[in-house]
Amino acid sequence: MCTNKAYVQAFSHVRGLHMQKLFQEAQHAYDVAVQLASEPRFTGSEGEAKAREFIVRELKNLGYDVKLEPFKVKVYQVKHVSLEVLEPRIGSVECTGVGFSGETGEDGVEGDLFYIEGGDPILEPSSRNWIGLASTRPDKDAWRRLVKKALGLLIAESSPHRELSRVEVPVEWRERFGNLPAVYVRYNDAVKLLDAKRVRLTLLQDYREVEAFNIVAEKKGVKYPDEIIYVTAHLDSVYGVKGAVDNAGGSALTVAIAKALASSNLKRSIRFVLFSGEELGLRGSLAYVEAHKDELKNAVLVLNLDVHGGAVGSTRVVVTGSKSLRHSVEFISKKLGVKTEVSEDVMSSDSASFARLGVPSVNIFRSSGANVVMHTEQDSPELLHPMSFELPGLLTLKLIDEIADAEEVPFEREISDDVKKKVEEYFKKRLGIFE
Ligand SMILES: [Zn+2]
Repeated sequence: MCTNKAYVQAFSHVRGLHMQKLFQEAQHAYDVAVQLASEPRFTGSEGEAKAREFIVRELKNLGYDVKLEPFKVKVYQVKHVSLEVLEPRIGSVECTGVGFSGETGEDGVEGDLFYIEGGDPILEPSSRNWIGLASTRPDKDAWRRLVKKALGLLIAESSPHRELSRVEVPVEWRERFGNLPAVYVRYNDAVKLLDAKRVRLTLLQDYREVEAFNIVAEKKGVKYPDEIIYVTAHLDSVYGVKGAVDNAGGSALTVAIAKALASSNLKRSIRFVLFSGEELGLRGSLAYVEAHKDELKNAVLVLNLDVHGGAVGSTRVVVTGSKSLRHSVEFISKKLGVKTEVSEDVMSSDSASFARLGVPSVNIFRSSGANVVMHTEQDSPELLHPMSFELPGLLTLKLIDEIADAEEVPFEREISDDVKKKVEEYFKKRLGIFE
């Protein structure tokens, strides 16, 4: 087996020959990402606490004052999960529990199995007490319907190349609609389950509230210190997953940007925030914007770094803002010669919490084959490479420099109406935590 470390050592001469160093802190970003991705960082866990202490140390060593801002968040722990095919007698199928979906009790639930695609009403039986097999996680409205009719739900992975997802539905779904114990099954198992008649599902989990922390550090602007550009990333991972590209990579890139700016004197302030609780429904950023509502009037922009480090890939940007912000990003990408696919949308990440309060954002991320395995155990440090931080790092740094040091902010500080609608739709339907 060729580990990534060995690969980097063996081919470092190739890298030196064929690629210039464009972002001075790319290697540092890689080193930090590997360190962060050495263990899972589920919200409120010991692994997350260790990662947090490491980041705080890093930022302090760079000369930053670092604050921890606590907030309360609900977490879950899956205690037991099993799935047995009773008819035909295939036996047990490996699966993972969906956090906050519900519980079956010790004896499990037994029912006829119906394939319901994505929660398509036409496929849902009118009877009750069956178990559904879905091709993808049903959205909030379908979930609400299923709670009333089904005993449980099996969700297929989206690709034969994916291991089992370790994810959750928002805690509000269970609190508002009720119990629907759900699990993920592998794609190939789902194909076999299409011919199964009857299954037994057991899922036991418990819930508790924990204290989690956002990490905040700032570089004060020298001319317009009240005008703030945020550089953000989420440090937490889903449970039992090292989260290398999601999002040790983005957290590490944030630290590397902080390092690159440590001795700079920009006109506006740069505030670095590493959020907790993102995977549980943007909990850290929602708590942050609530606590800093007044200050957000002076927010210029959020540069959010979620999903980075995938070794082979390309740079992508989702702009949640105005046309002129999009044009600014495109202008700078082209000026640099960084090929960047730019779109206007809401991104399912912490920037959405800011967008909800009208703060525009630029989501810079790495599109890569590594992203296919996000939220599974396969999202591990082997997927990372120092090269992957060069272009996103260069683009992020240049954007900060151009905007933070401009005499006038070079774009409209607003979110266009069609993107605003998408933001609302995201919180109501896709994430489904505000009604
Ligand atoms: Zn993420």
